[in-house]
Amino acid sequence: MDIYTTIAAWRAARADWTAAEGIGCVPTMGYLHAGHLSLVHLARAQNRRVVVSIFVNPLQFGPAEDFAAYPRDTPRDLALLEAAGVDAVFMPSPAEMYPPGFATSVTLHGPLVERLEGARRPGHFAGVATVVTKLCTIMQPTQVYFGQKDAQQVAVVRRFVADLNLPVQIVVGSIMREPDGLALSSRNVYLAPAQRQAALVLHRALATARAALANGEQDAEAIRATMRAVVASEPLATLDYADVVDPATFAPLVVVQPPALLALVAQVGPPHLLDNYLWRADGTWDVGETAPATE
Ligand code: AMP
Repeated sequence: MDIYTTIAAWRAARADWTAAEGIGCVPTMGYLHAGHLSLVHLARAQNRRVVVSIFVNPLQFGPAEDFAAYPRDTPRDLALLEAAGVDAVFMPSPAEMYPPGFATSVTLHGPLVERLEGARRPGHFAGVATVVTKLCTIMQPTQVYFGQKDAQQVAVVRRFVADLNLPVQIVVGSIMREPDGLALSSRNVYLAPAQRQAALVLHRALATARAALANGEQDAEAIRATMRAVVASEPLATLDYADVVDPATFAPLVVVQPPALLALVAQVGPPHLLDNYLWRADGTWDVGETAPATE
């Protein structure tokens, strides 16, 4: 496994790879868990070459957010990626990605970037769009892998990749969960034991909403109220939002029919935890999977 910290060194190596082989890229901010590794395995299965980027992107953190404190463990990350059969790791410094004088941003407009995570984290999606655009032009992958965990990020990436005609295919992997249902996240490390237990309320709220839909409820407001009530029953959780939206546009639904995304964010202790269930257009559900215990 080769490690590159500069764009020039990476480009020299990339010149030996041809797109016809299939080049899968998994962008991450490091502190890897089984959710990231599921994307790496997917990329490994679908491509001759796999490159993973590790870059804690300052542009996507707000001034009051945890950029400096974001958990990092590069030696462990590299060992996990080596074991997963990754060909190359790209881990640039912030100065390599954003040298003095850097003055460009990829900014989307409209409800997709203004609602929910866009409202909770102003500027976040411009930071994501800017870094993913740069990673696509630097890495020149054929496939780029994202987790359904960040469902609005998936919709945003699909939007600007189409709008800018970036020649990459977006592949989305299901949410990986702990055996008790908690969605894996690098920020789960911040949870004290009682908070870790309380965090299960997100999964419970989504499951309750899904059961209501299975029982014939179609009123989006009733589904939102169901999720809000479950989260309110957990004293250690504070709801940011519970919504039912179109998974591509993030427009709120009035009548819930597939495709629909149940999107939930709640603060439990320090972190704001994200979770969602996707009701696909074909009527099947993506509620995530239990991550393999060995990872
Ligand atoms: P991050 O390092 O948090 O930026 O995440 C890198 C990628 O891993 C993103 O595409 C995330 O959506 C994805 N990811 C994070 N957590 C999970 C999870 N529990 N299951 C699947 N993918 C995930």
